[in-house]
Amino acid sequence: MRCSCCGTGNTRVVATTTHSAGGEIRRRRQCQNCGHRFTTIERVPVELPIVVKDGVPLRREPFSRDKLKQGIELACAKRPVSQAAIERLVEGIESYLEENNIGEVSSRTIGQRVIDGLRTLDEVAYLRYAIVFLNLEDLASVRCEIDRLLA
Ligand SMILES: [Zn+2]
Repeated sequence: MRCSCCGTGNTRVVATTTHSAGGEIRRRRQCQNCGHRFTTIERVPVELPIVVKDGVPLRREPFSRDKLKQGIELACAKRPVSQAAIERLVEGIESYLEENNIGEVSSRTIGQRVIDGLRTLDEVAYLRYAIVFLNLEDLASVRCEIDRLLA
């Protein structure tokens, strides 16, 4: 590592700290030439899980936070659900994927988590999302879902 002050490559690590969140490693270094102290940060690139979508053939695509959020926002349109609540729901799903080190996840699993989250936030948003993601194609199954909700 080159000194950020004088540019020589002769630096020494004087302290190392690891941050559990995100697995970040900070190293405090000191230049052996000019004595300048500086910090370097090492980060492991975050590997996005792959989302497997139902259908023939199966489709795979990297998990997209934006897409997930858009889907939830669409379901919550004109409903009394705050942006902060949507953000929390997205974050909850993201950290679930991260904490469990999930490399591949079905879109169904993610959809189910959104549905579970929306159920507690807003019934209409929940139902909108459920209709799309549970593939409720006919009125009977929508009604079945409403009955379940009212039960
Ligand atoms: Zn230096």
